[in-house]
Amino acid sequence: MLQVKMTEAFKMSFLDTPIPDIGDDDVLIRMKRVGVCGSDIQIYHGKHKYMSFPVVQGHEGAGVVAKVGSKVTGFREGDKVTVQPQVFCGECAPCRSGHPNVCKNLRVYGVHTGGMFSEYFAAPASKVLRLPETMSFDEGSLVEPTAVATGAIRRCGNITGTNVVVLGAGTIGNLVAQVAVASGARKVVITDINPTRLAIARDCGIHACIDTRGRKLKDVIMEEFGENEADIIIDCAGVKAIFNEAVAAARCSSKLVIVANYKEPVEVELPLFQRREVDMLGIMMYLREDFQRAIDLMTQKKIDTSRLISDHFNIRQMEAVYPHIDTHPESVMKVVIDIGE
Ligand SMILES: [Zn+2]
Ligand SMILES: [Zn+2]
Repeated sequence: MLQVKMTEAFKMSFLDTPIPDIGDDDVLIRMKRVGVCGSDIQIYHGKHKYMSFPVVQGHEGAGVVAKVGSKVTGFREGDKVTVQPQVFCGECAPCRSGHPNVCKNLRVYGVHTGGMFSEYFAAPASKVLRLPETMSFDEGSLVEPTAVATGAIRRCGNITGTNVVVLGAGTIGNLVAQVAVASGARKVVITDINPTRLAIARDCGIHACIDTRGRKLKDVIMEEFGENEADIIIDCAGVKAIFNEAVAAARCSSKLVIVANYKEPVEVELPLFQRREVDMLGIMMYLREDFQRAIDLMTQKKIDTSRLISDHFNIRQMEAVYPHIDTHPESVMKVVIDIGE
């Protein structure tokens, strides 16, 4: 089978490898669609701090069950599935306290261990989730990013009736804002400096989509929410200057939630947290329940993913993918790799 391996930054090789053998508890999946993530782009550039080469990338996959292990129940050949791409130890303190997404020994498929840019992928059945027959493989590849969003909103607590600002209208920001709307936020504002992304956000039903070029975040918040300001600010942009604007724009007893992957340390004015009791929350991927909620919200059409995929490439054209992303920052949203027919 064909498999694409990143051997070092900017370098990939196309391998012809045997189809993986599966154990009694495993499922073999014929991959159909695999999305390219922001973290994949960091890996390509050699900027991802928490991985090492070589690695087969790909953690946003959808495919069809090709074979099931002898002890597997609940899956059969031909089922449409996606994969929760986290391997955790189950024994460390975070795992035992219900936070396996921050397991001390966490390994993510496609980052720390083999991923899905491959014709077939074997995974324990416990990592596999069934997709409804009505869901397309394109949508299936967007379950993982949507699970990042359901995880982020779960981390915010009960958001019913709240004012929410999402910074950054890329795929993750868009999905976080949509999940906030679907979860009962009073008003959800999304900001960006890219008009295409803002237009897509508008089409997805996000309440207010604001171009912040030449504007202060604080002013946008006052204009959109009035004196109540923002209860929750969710950073999906990962830009130092914007983060500091968010700190300044946070209100007493508000929450500042970091979803973005920062590549470098950020200096902040700590008294603005301490004196105003601003809660800063980090969010790292998702739990199983977030994955299932993502599938449910998509199945119920409460999340619109139809505008999120900007480009398709066949796996055989994989070498063209990252240069395309690098040279089209204004138009690229989610790039999806097609595998097989
Ligand atoms: Zn991802
Ligand atoms: Zn653990």
